Amino acid sequence: MQTHFTLAQLADPDIAATNDILRTCVHCGFCTATCPTYTLLGDELDGPRGRIYLMKQMFEADAPATEEVVTHIDRCLSCLSCMTTCPSGVHYQHLVDHGRKHIEETYTRPFMDRMLRKVLAWSIPYPLRFRAMLTGALLARPFRGLFRGRMRAMLDLAPTDLGPPSPVDKPQVFPAEGVRKGRVALLNGCAQTVIAPQINEATIRLLTRLGVEVVVAEGMGCCGSLVHHMGRTGDSHAQAAVNIDAWLAEDAHDSLDAIVINTSGCGTQVKDYGFMFREDSAYAEKAARVSALASDVSEYLAKLNPSIDAFEEAASLRVTYHSACSMQHGQQIRNEPKALLAAAGFAVSEPSEGHLCCGSAGTYNIMQPKIAGELRDRKAANIARTTPDVLATGNIGCMTQLADAVDAPVVHTVELLDWATGGPKPRKLG
Ligand code: SF4
Ligand code: SF4
Repeated sequence: MQTHFTLAQLADPDIAATNDILRTCVHCGFCTATCPTYTLLGDELDGPRGRIYLMKQMFEADAPATEEVVTHIDRCLSCLSCMTTCPSGVHYQHLVDHGRKHIEETYTRPFMDRMLRKVLAWSIPYPLRFRAMLTGALLARPFRGLFRGRMRAMLDLAPTDLGPPSPVDKPQVFPAEGVRKGRVALLNGCAQTVIAPQINEATIRLLTRLGVEVVVAEGMGCCGSLVHHMGRTGDSHAQAAVNIDAWLAEDAHDSLDAIVINTSGCGTQVKDYGFMFREDSAYAEKAARVSALASDVSEYLAKLNPSIDAFEEAASLRVTYHSACSMQHGQQIRNEPKALLAAAGFAVSEPSEGHLCCGSAGTYNIMQPKIAGELRDRKAANIARTTPDVLATGNIGCMTQLADAVDAPVVHTVELLDWATGGPKPRKLG
């Protein structure tokens, strides 16, 4: 694609990166076929190619974002299915991140929209605040029939019970059982520690049982993806910098084998820290080291290659594996989770249209409840055709989105692997 930036514009590193991305696009449109919003809405501007054109025009004109641009970029899930499909290697993720930053800096959203975004950015990344907000939602949940739109979406997504904080989510070291085969830091996440603390508990039990020492680093917090996808890049860089310092304090003499992440949405973000800080002389090298260490838990386990004996109870369970977009498109991890589950003896199947997003996408299911609801129902119908006893996935966002839509318990992949290797049966399986 031809671009027309001036030399002065290209002096801005963000514009220079955007220019390089735009020039790799050959307008072929293959990406539109696998874009969930194009599939639903059938509008070229709600597909990747149309969004690329809109952003190109906006950046070349050095113009503030218009309502049209904001509408179509806001409808993008950042699912990155288009990146998997693109034969030309267009880095849509970095392009749309730049587009969102520009929108945040140049467009004034309606008052209620601004307030909601502020509340979400203030609360979700911080477990204490998020817990307080969910407690309020729990109290309001019985009256959710009185609400519509985003408020209703928030109440529908709120969990029906909240357990206490898990002791594993405090800074500490979990020693390996037997001979130590590895040492990793675990990103324990923000929202996940409140909604589903059993995931970190299962991850730590599983890793230590397989001979891996697990460190929960002092000071670590949210990965920054939630605010990054809102275009609040100042906030996301600040959150990422805190994590980089926390993890590298545990990495003296390169002693970490990996930073293990069990929420694929966060994994995609941490793997991008190197790009985020590429122009920051104080953090560029450190961020690149952290990105190189980042590994989804399934990716790390596959490399560890543990011998997992087939688990007798697994044979009677039909497991449908839902691959989160951030797993299959953001990190290009497809086979590892399924292979691990199969090695443990589970009969694993996948739904058709597996490339399509379930509509979760960070805060998308709150901000765009109609499209998110249609995608959820479509995903749930495809999952139902596989007649699962249990649905397994590797991302807390998808678990929350699908929990009430699927007629089977929804668990994290590591909960099944933990159970199969000697851990407790996942609570949701009864
Ligand atoms: S990220 Fe997903 S929703 Fe956005 S343009 Fe690409 S395929 Fe479509
Ligand atoms: S598939 Fe790639 S090259 Fe083709 S239009 Fe989409 S982004 Fe451009």
